[in-house]
Formats: sequence, structure tokens, C-alpha cells
Amino acid sequence: MTTLQHDLVIIGGGLAGLRAAIEAARTAEKAGKSLDIAIVSKVYPVRSHSVSAEGGAAAVLRDYDTFDLHAMDTIRGADFLADQDAVEILVNSAPSEIIQMEHWGCPWNRDEDGHVSVRAFGGMSVKRTVFASDKTGFHMLHTLFQTSLKYTTITRYDEWFVTSIIADDKEVHGIVGLDISTGSFHAIKAKAVMLAAGGGGRVFAFTTNGSICTGDGMALAYRAGAPLKDMEFVQFHPTGLPNTGILITEAARGEGGYLINAKGERFLEKYIPNKMEMGPRDIISRAIITELEQGLGYGESKDGFVHLDLRHLGEKHLKSRLPFILELTRTYMGIDPVIEPIPVRPVLHYMMGGVHTDNDGRTPLKGLYSAGENACVTINGANRLGSNSLTECLVFGARAGSAAAGYIFETAGSDKDLSTFAERDETKIRTRFLTERNRGEKVSVIRKELQATMEEGAGVFRTAKGLNGSIEKLAELRERAQRLQIKDSTRTYNLELVGALELDFMLDVADTIVQSAHNRQESRGAHVRRDFPERDDEKWLIHQQANMTPKGLKIKKSPVTITKWQPEERKY
Ligand SMILES: Cc1cc2nc3c(=O)[nH]c(=O)nc-3n(C[C@H](O)[C@H](O)[C@H](O)COP(=O)(O)OP(=O)(O)OC[C@H]3O[C@@H](n4cnc5c(N)ncnc54)[C@H](O)[C@@H]3O)c2cc1C
Repeated sequence: MTTLQHDLVIIGGGLAGLRAAIEAARTAEKAGKSLDIAIVSKVYPVRSHSVSAEGGAAAVLRDYDTFDLHAMDTIRGADFLADQDAVEILVNSAPSEIIQMEHWGCPWNRDEDGHVSVRAFGGMSVKRTVFASDKTGFHMLHTLFQTSLKYTTITRYDEWFVTSIIADDKEVHGIVGLDISTGSFHAIKAKAVMLAAGGGGRVFAFTTNGSICTGDGMALAYRAGAPLKDMEFVQFHPTGLPNTGILITEAARGEGGYLINAKGERFLEKYIPNKMEMGPRDIISRAIITELEQGLGYGESKDGFVHLDLRHLGEKHLKSRLPFILELTRTYMGIDPVIEPIPVRPVLHYMMGGVHTDNDGRTPLKGLYSAGENACVTINGANRLGSNSLTECLVFGARAGSAAAGYIFETAGSDKDLSTFAERDETKIRTRFLTERNRGEKVSVIRKELQATMEEGAGVFRTAKGLNGSIEKLAELRERAQRLQIKDSTRTYNLELVGALELDFMLDVADTIVQSAHNRQESRGAHVRRDFPERDDEKWLIHQQANMTPKGLKIKKSPVTITKWQPEERKY
């Protein structure tokens, strides 16, 4: 087995990973130094989940807007749990990143006067979300991918699945990856490793997230000894299509769509009258669930729905601004939004938590960096505002790429011999999953039960009893997952094996979510405890960091950085 070697290994070829790789290469170019960069991705990079982002990216680009207003919106949206120094970096750097994307070829929509168009988004005081139709992620990802091809110092390992990070308690030495196309394991030595492996929405049953969003990067960091921060905060998007969970972008409300209940009422008047459809996602999701619980929606409350009405916007506007929404609704629901309202219900969409980093993507483990949805900087606190995440991938991807390059220039690199590590992972994985592989249960059975218990215990509304139930269920599933039935014994493209490895990561990620949620005895942002309905700043204006220890999960608390916006009641 060969040991490969690069200076920087980036796990993930989505927006954050590509932006980081490009910035690392540019930093080296500017410094006149050489830097050998690798991107390892379990799918071809343009199939990363970023490709499915619809609505847009937030940045202050108009005279009527200010950095302070964008920061305040973000901090209030986060229910004051965002680190305000990080938010200031986000809003200050966002415009130059958006302009840079334009220069690299991103086809932002434009107004007739030539300005880049902006649209309204939930929780934002003014129109500040730039977009490329309703396929923003597709265009941004392709722009970065084609830009990355310019740099000959970037090598790609497409369809390689990272199975572990090689680290001791002092520093990182590299990774082990499974080449999915051949079934062979390889160690890649690196002076720095960056996790840009995205989120883990698939730990829930009903989600907008692609099937590859299994939280691998979070679990990889956690196992290597880096803490996972704010994991209790997961975001439910108010408008998913029933059954599939396909996202109907917030831009549909930004363009003027209404939410109505079965009585034909615009029910948000009862919950958030000043913002209505432009309220933040946590509040609107709770409003929908409350309507359903009161029998004011359609269908059973557990999988009932309300309506999103776009009819008054007219076919011409819908075709120009929301063509993808027309296509998705017609294809997957058989419903034409031009003449019929769209059924929608809250759907798991995003993870605010992730690997704890500083503002340059550094984790507490020397040489390990993280950016994008994988990381928790944190600008999102207890609730992310829509369209801040694409911007986060650009701003903090670039900062992490540049910081990692700087670190590598100063680092000799370890002299650790990695030749046995690929074999170690291969033996462990083959012994556990492929020898006597008929003795256990199917991956799909355990995954289904895992997703069901997360919906049950860690949904929009939570209680100690429900969370306890999920904690116990996860312990049982972890035990059962030690024995899995994998029918496919081939080496090439053994996606059943990949599914088993993903399930193993999901179990770790799910555990950090429910345990952190059980511990936080208050309600804040997207984390609402029916047994602790108030926000409690005195006790809980803090981050929780989950650490893996030999005795199980241990939570450490860390302060929230406040710069100039003192916490106050979150009112809209
Ligand atoms: C349907 C949808 C619509 C959205 N719309 C918007 C929007 O309009 N505006 C907004 O701001 N945000 C939006 N978001 C959120 C935003 O798109 C994501 O948070 C962001 O794109 C994540 O980018 P990323 O680079 O961090 O990760 P991803 O794009 O998810 O990329 C992760 C990468 O990691 C790789 N990877 C993962 N595990 C492994 C492993 N074990 N080994 C090797 N490689 C691995 C994958 O192959 C992939 O390349 C949306 C999200 C969804 C799901």
C-alpha cells in the first residue's frame, strides 16, 4: 500500500473546500512559494450538496444597506448565540467575495439598470440576497470548480471516501481514504488537513439534504479529538414538499408568496405580524407545527401540511424568478404553482453546529482546519438566517485556506511513518463489516430507526423525556450496528460498505445532537424545550462543546463573544 503525500489535504469539494483550495493556491502564488494541495471528495465535486442551493447568498451591496444592519440581523436571527467578531468578519468580507465570484464568472441575476439583483430573505431587514435564478448553488459551485482547474498545484481524489484522520494528541499527520472505484485504502500524509465535508442532515428522516450529507466530517473530527460545538441547534426550514423533503426555497416567500392554513388564513399574523413570511425559519417552522397541532392544517399533524400560495405572483414572474420551483413542484407533486397552492411542511435543513474553530478555521488540534457547514465558527448561533451559509462558505473557506497555507509555510511537517495506517483501517473495516457479513442487520434498518428517533426526540419541539428516549435508542442502535449485514462483497464501488461507514458516522453525530440538546435547559433559536420554554441568558448564554472521551461524551462550556450588540429580547 502506498503512502501519498501533499502539503494540504482538503476533505470536501463543495463550496467551502473549493474556495479554500483556491485561496491556499493564491496565497502560495503571492508569497512565491510552492504548495501542494489535494482535494478528496466522496463524490465528483460538482455533485456536492452545495449544488442544490436555490435561493442565494447575502452581502451588503446597496447604498441603503450597512454592515451593522447585516450583522444585527444575523445576531438577532442567531438568538444572540453567534460570536459577534465572526459575524463582523462575515458581513465585512461578503461583498468582496461576491464581486470576486462575479469576476470568476458567476452569472448573478441583474436588474435592468445593470446592478446585481437582490431579493428579500427571512430575518433580513432589507433586500440583500444575491442570486442566480433559483439555482444559485449550481452556478456558484461550477464557478469555483472551473476556477480551481486553473491551478496545477491542486490534485483531486474524486470518489475517495475518507475513513479517518491520522492524528495524535499533539497534531495531525494525514488521512486514510478508501478509493471507492477500486476498494483500496491509502494513507495521504499532510502538514495540514481541512475538513470541508458539509453537514449531516441525513440523521433525520425528513430532510432537504442530499443522501451524501451524513456528517462524516463532524464525526471524523470528533474521533480525532476535536470538539463539536453547538450541536443541539439544527434548523428546520418551513417549506419542504411532503414525502420527499424537497426544498421550496425561502426565495418563494421573498418574491411575495404567502403561507395559508386550511381555513385560508395567513396564520403568521398570529405569530410574527411585523415580519409575516419574512420572519426567521425557527419561528415560522414552530408556527406551522402549532397550526397542525391545533388541527388548522391539512392531514394528520405528524405529516400534515399547510399551503404556500404563489398564484398571485403570476406566471411571468414565477417563470423568470422561480423556474426551478415550478419544475420541482410540477414533477414531484403533480401540482402547478401558477394555478394551485403548494403543500409544505417544516423539514430538517441545516446544522448550525459543527467542528469548533477560530475565525481562521483553526481547530484546537494543531494542523486541523475546518470550514463551511462542517465547521462552527460561529456566525449562525442558535438559528441561521437563510442565504448566510453560501456566504459563510466563501468568506471562511477563503480565510481557512489562507491560514492553512501560512501554517504550512512555517511547518517542517511530522516525520511519522504512515505506512501502516491504511492497512489498519482496512483490516478494521473488513473485519467488522465484511467477514461473517451475514450475521447482523441491514444498514437500512438501523438507519431508518436512527432517523425516526431523531425526528421523535430532537424535532422542532423537544422535551427531556423525548431526548432521553433518543439517547437510549441511539445506544441500542450503536450496539446493533456492531454487526451489520453487507451482501455486496465486491471491492469496486461497494456502496453498501460506504453506506455502513456513513451510518457509523451518523450515529456519532446524532449522539452529540441529542446529548447537547438534553443538557441545554432553555429555549433559544431553533432549540425549543417544552419543559424549559424561556431563554435563560444567565445560565445559557454559552456554547457547548462535545468531546469524545474514553468515558463517553463530555460537554465543555465556552463563552459567546459579544462585541457591540448586547443581548436583548428577540423581537420582530
Ligand atoms: C436544498 C438546499 C438548499 C440550500 N439553499 C441555500 C441557499 O439558497 N443559501 C444558503 O446560504 N444556503 C443554502 N443551503 C445551505 C448551503 O447550501 C450549505 O450549507 C453549503 O452549500 C455547504 O457547503 P459545504 O462546502 O460546507 O459542503 P457540501 O457542499 O455539502 O460539500 C461537502 C463535500 O464533502 C465531501 N465529503 C463528505 N464526506 C466525505 C468523506 N467521508 N470522504 C470524502 N469526502 C467527503 C463531499 O463529497 C462534498 O464534496 C441549502 C442547503 C440545501 C440542502
